[in-house]
Amino acid sequence: MSQPGQPGFKLCPSCGNAAALDAAVCVRCGHTFQTQFSVPPPPPGGWSPYPRSGYPGQPFVGTHSKIAAGLFAILLGGLGVHRFYLGDIAGGFLFLVGSILGLFLCGIPSMVLGVIALVQGILYLVVSDAEFHQKYVVERRWF
Ligand SMILES: [Zn+2]
Repeated sequence: MSQPGQPGFKLCPSCGNAAALDAAVCVRCGHTFQTQFSVPPPPPGGWSPYPRSGYPGQPFVGTHSKIAAGLFAILLGGLGVHRFYLGDIAGGFLFLVGSILGLFLCGIPSMVLGVIALVQGILYLVVSDAEFHQKYVVERRWF
């Protein structure tokens, strides 16, 4: 039987029982250990609201599809869906509100916003993946 405090064991702060270092719960009292030996859960994969820049020497990994952004801009243009998609909430609202209000102004503002979105969509599609990520995801440029 091992003594408490011996290397390889930790003491339960609740009842003083010795437990294995990798034990998650005290066998005597049921105390859950907050141990520094536990492995933190892996970060959730997939979509992240924060831009991930690739580490030097590693292949570039983008967070947003420029194809999706381009198609949103070209097909849904004035509604600003592409700006929302790229995380530019303020820009998206500008498009959305501008287009709706534009309907009361003979549709001229809506048409202008639609043309701007069309140009943005084409720009998204023609630049490289890395350039798209840097310009339109990280810096959130309009053009
Ligand atoms: Zn215990």
